[in-house]
Amino acid sequence: MGEFELIRRYFAAASCARAAAGVALGIGDDCALLQVDAGEQLAVSTDTLVAGVHFPDCCDPFLLGQRALGVSASDLAAMGAAPLAFTLALTLPNAEPAWLEDFARGLDQMAQACGLALVGGDTTRGPLSLTLSVFGRLPAGQALTRSGARPGDLLCVGGTLGDGAGALPLVLGQTQAAAAVAELLLARYWAPQPQLALGQLLRGKASAALDISDGLLADCGHIARASGVALLIERERLPLSPALLALCGREAALAHALGGGDDYRLAFTLPAEQLAAVQVAWPEVAVIGRVAAGEAVQLLDADGQPLALPETGYQHFRP
Ligand code: ADP
Ligand code: MG
Repeated sequence: MGEFELIRRYFAAASCARAAAGVALGIGDDCALLQVDAGEQLAVSTDTLVAGVHFPDCCDPFLLGQRALGVSASDLAAMGAAPLAFTLALTLPNAEPAWLEDFARGLDQMAQACGLALVGGDTTRGPLSLTLSVFGRLPAGQALTRSGARPGDLLCVGGTLGDGAGALPLVLGQTQAAAAVAELLLARYWAPQPQLALGQLLRGKASAALDISDGLLADCGHIARASGVALLIERERLPLSPALLALCGREAALAHALGGGDDYRLAFTLPAEQLAAVQVAWPEVAVIGRVAAGEAVQLLDADGQPLALPETGYQHFRP
């Protein structure tokens, strides 16, 4: 099977590559053409996943396809963008039909769940890696950036934290758990649900937002720096899932929630008067702290006393 046959069979023929609103031209030409209305902006984000770094070398291709796109789409959620399209640059050691079929099915399933059309990509031979670019639409000037947090705002998250990181030992086969617990946590790792609807709801409400990919503390640090404020996080208010608590107990669950990464929940700052409207639509939104004058992230115990910060946040190339 040559490159063009591969593209045609597994990607151009996928349901997510069909004609879609906002896609004037899809796979097959030198560029895809995306249509946005006057007064809109195009939100663009790229993520690369490398075998052995971002996912285990010989993981299930269906799950890999699903997860790769879910992770990328989460960046659109974080900006409040409406999903439009994506491209896939795929580097493969060899063209194995069974692998490609399962991978394309996983990708297609997540694409349809997110409302993203596959409009192009690139296919090359080499060590397994994926680069996905996602495109979304935003009313001009309404993107949720990291830089708008103001002292007095609440700090919120879009749901339970730590599940993805807690699931990693299950993913790697290093530990076992009761079937129901394992199923829930593995699903949180392999099928992250980008909070696209929540992101769009937060437009015009949240003052700053991002999606938690590197751990709550590290990612809140980005908001603090970009906004020039301090973020105070109350440790006892972090929402933890019953499955994670059952797997590893409260202390380890809190450590995963603070430093683990792989959550793909939104973290955002919100003027207090907006909270009721947001929680009516999204009851799982939890207030975990507040914004104050100052700098950096501070972790507080139940009495409001500062706690030492654990060292967190994976960085490539860090010595
Ligand atoms: P070019 O040589 O002009 O860069 P390619 O031969 O790389 O084009 O790709 C042909 C068409 O197939 C292009 O429209 C490209 O976007 C698309 N394409 C290539 N690889 C993929 C892929 N993995 N998934 C989806 N579309 C792809
Ligand atoms: Mg090309």
